[in-house]
Amino acid sequence: MPISESMVQDIVQEVMAKMQIADAPTGKHGVFKEMNDAIEAAKKAELIVKKMSMDQREKIITCIRKKIKENAEVMARMGVDETGMGNVGDKILKHHLVADKTPGTEDITTTAWSGDRGLTLIEMGPFGVIGAITPCTNPSETVLCNTIGMLAGGNTVVFNPHPAAIKTSIFAINLVNEASLEAGGPDNIAVTVEKPTLETSNIMMKHKDIPLIAATGGPGVVTAVLSSGKRGIGAGAGNPPAVVDETADIRKAAQDIVNGCTFDNNLPCIAEKEVVAVSSVVDELMHYMLTENDCYLASKEEQDKLTEVVLAGGKLNRKCVGRDAKTLLSMIGVNAPANIRCIIFEGPKEHPLITTELMMPILGIVRAKDFDDAVEQAVWLEHGNRHSAHIHSKNVDNITKYAKAIDTAILVKNGPSYSALGFGGEGYCTFTIASRTGEGLTSASTFTKRRRCVMSDSLCIR
Ligand code: NAD
Repeated sequence: MPISESMVQDIVQEVMAKMQIADAPTGKHGVFKEMNDAIEAAKKAELIVKKMSMDQREKIITCIRKKIKENAEVMARMGVDETGMGNVGDKILKHHLVADKTPGTEDITTTAWSGDRGLTLIEMGPFGVIGAITPCTNPSETVLCNTIGMLAGGNTVVFNPHPAAIKTSIFAINLVNEASLEAGGPDNIAVTVEKPTLETSNIMMKHKDIPLIAATGGPGVVTAVLSSGKRGIGAGAGNPPAVVDETADIRKAAQDIVNGCTFDNNLPCIAEKEVVAVSSVVDELMHYMLTENDCYLASKEEQDKLTEVVLAGGKLNRKCVGRDAKTLLSMIGVNAPANIRCIIFEGPKEHPLITTELMMPILGIVRAKDFDDAVEQAVWLEHGNRHSAHIHSKNVDNITKYAKAIDTAILVKNGPSYSALGFGGEGYCTFTIASRTGEGLTSASTFTKRRRCVMSDSLCIR
């Protein structure tokens, strides 16, 4: 094939862009002192990514997956050491889940209409450089998962990670850039600053080269992003209730709920945060939780002490978030056996340990007089987040009624919450669930814009 002048120009431009990208001054790929420099580097990398074939993008993603698996334990340990939250074993599983089940370029598809008047396509095109804000609860998991999806969509990404998890986030950002370089791609497909602050976040949100911002975190950050004047993907807070009715396999429900609730010490936003059970099954459910699932029953006095510590001064105590049950109990002077995984108690829905999104293995159980009452209480407890909810029932009518009433992005039936992430359940993985803005479980296609491409009166060959 002869090389045209425009092809030569393209190659020259690409080489120039590669040469112009400043080396990150911090010794880590993609890590800059100033947010504006980080964005500039991501923009230059984006000019290269834009011209890459889907196959080249996929090669980089394959290399990222490989490196995640090789470094899963390192990142899991780093995340726990840096934030003091979660547990290493579950974090290793989460990293493997990201590597195995985050969709790549196969998620970028085309819709076509062909007929007498020609051929029309809807194609998914990149936004360019995406701004991403990430939480401390799943720091490297979110950076890695976002990067795979955003790159598959043809974008590069600027992260403003949670300051409490910056070391772990930087490790993940460096890793994806190393993978890109190894696979023949550019440096700086993902970038960040050494010291992320609200100021660097503001610079990012206002920057002319950032058309889309994806925020994963609590209500404050989602509101900030949705007020930025830019398109925003808002993956906000949840407080997922698990409803149990009288048709459920109660023994299995107890096991599933405790497994979901204790996964990574309850850090995932999708994890069971409280239970609402119909009165006739509450005692049996708690019996199985206590006798077969390593739960600790907190007395009224212990609940009060926990409330004082966990919600000190009426505010969520960050020192308790993501801690294991034994540590939480030790904070109120209880020396629990080593096997204890979860603290349970029965209480009204207004109990502060039930109504607040705690992100720790404390599971309040609310008694409902019948199924309708259970649905009403669960909807109240979800606080209109429309995030995640779970149910244990074999009654299809009940499940349908609950699904319609609670209206969440995720509804797991008869399984632990993490099956919604593809862990022991069907479907793909994500750590950015856009509950508030409605995209639901994000994937590569979420990070693209739809383009209509019309050929008039031709190319229909039927
Ligand atoms: P957080 O809200 O404290 O922080 C999240 C990110 O937002 C951090 O990077 C933080 O620096 C930034 N931030 C906070 N306020 C901001 C503001 N006003 N402007 C700009 N940036 C701001 O949350 P966290 O403790 O790191 O994570 C836990 C919360 O995130 C929980 O509420 C959990 O439900 C939610 N979460 C949601 C998802 C989801 O996919 N929907 C995933 C993980 C966590």
